[in-house]
Parts: sequence; structure tokens; C-alpha cells
Amino acid sequence: MVSLAELLRSVNLGGERFVVSSIRRRRRDPFKVLVGIVLSQNTSDANAIEAYRRLEERVGVEPRRLAEAPLESIEDAVRPAGLYRRRAWVLKNLAATVLERYGGDLWRLLRRPWREARRELLSIPGIGVKTADVLLANFVPEAEVLAVDTHISRVAKRLGVVGPRAGYEETSSRLIELLRGKIDLLEAHLKLIAVGRRYCRPRRPRCGECPLREVCKYAAARTVGDDAPR
Ligand code: SF4
Repeated sequence: MVSLAELLRSVNLGGERFVVSSIRRRRRDPFKVLVGIVLSQNTSDANAIEAYRRLEERVGVEPRRLAEAPLESIEDAVRPAGLYRRRAWVLKNLAATVLERYGGDLWRLLRRPWREARRELLSIPGIGVKTADVLLANFVPEAEVLAVDTHISRVAKRLGVVGPRAGYEETSSRLIELLRGKIDLLEAHLKLIAVGRRYCRPRRPRCGECPLREVCKYAAARTVGDDAPR
């Protein structure tokens, strides 16, 4: 039987925009990517990109500049992303912590063993598991992490790889267990998001066109239901 990893490999990412990937492509600077991750949470890609652009232009996306900038300037710059007061506070705090602990160079943390780096990232206020995992996935190839966002959580539950009440750590660990060694975990993360955006929508998922339907419990149950007499 075909595996989830094989089906995921066949998913084409053409046309998908990922804020974090585009910042990483332009500048292989983990601090800039971390800022991009904070700006892209719970907002559209277009809003996150606009907020990043304004921040770069008005304040500068560097630890010292952000740490020394007045909070109001950061708030004003990141306004397009929404939740701007909270985001500005998180960014200023992140910048101050990166300066204080690593002399402004996040690579000093990312060169440590990845589990230790993950624990330390999680000790920084404003960095949650998803942020830490996206950062590690983008800069530490040996890190066994798979960040779970709302799309991936929904897809994993419908596929039946986890139960309906599974939380972040359970979903992430189960996907890693299924996919490790069969597909690059960052590639799998991006492709699961693409499946969630294109086919596995919260309402009326488009199972008939979905590349994962062969291994999906939700789709199988729906097919049986469709065949049943009404
Ligand atoms: S087959 Fe349907 S329910 Fe399953 S992952 Fe695809 S869209 Fe979602």
C-alpha cells in the first residue's frame, strides 16, 4: 500500500507562498526568519510580508536596532499584521534576549545540539513550540522537528494518524515517526500545509481531488457513506 510519505512527495508546491521560506531564501539570517515567523502567526501572508517590509524600512530587522527602538515605532511598523502591540512586545523582547544571551548572533544557539537549542528557544518569552520548530527546521538540518499549524493539525486528524483531541506534541511526534527517513521533514511540513490550504479546508474538504485520499480515513468513511442507501 502506498504510504503518506510517497503521496506527499508527489504534492506540487507551485503557486504556494510561504513567508518564512521567502525570507530565508533572500537572507540566510535566522534572526530575520524568526521575526518573519512571529509576524506570520495568525495572519495572512500578504499582511505578514507588508509588516516585515515596513519593519525593515522603518526600524531595521536586526537585534540591536529592534532592542533600542521605541516600542511605539515597532508597533506602528508591524500594524498590518494585526495584534501589533503583542507582536511588537515579543519582537523587542526577542531582540534584547538574542543580544544579551548570544551577542546578537542566533547561530551561537543554533550550532548547539538541536534538542538543547530547542529547550533554550522555548525558555524565551514569546517563543512557543511552533516558532521554535519552524526555526530549527529551516536552519538545523539534523533537527527532528515538524511544526504543526492549524492546517497540519486538521489534515493529521482527518487522515487518522492521530485522534481528534491530539495536541501539538502528539501530532508532531506521530508525523515524525511516520515520515522520518522517507521525506525531508521541512518538505513534508510545507506540503501538508499546501494540502490543508488547497483541499482539506475546514468546511467541505475537496477529498475527490486530494493527493492524500488513498490513505485518508475521513475520505474512506465519506466514500462508504456516499455509497450507503440514503
Ligand atoms: S482526503 Fe479529504 S479529508 Fe483527507 S486529507 Fe485530503 S481533503 Fe482532507
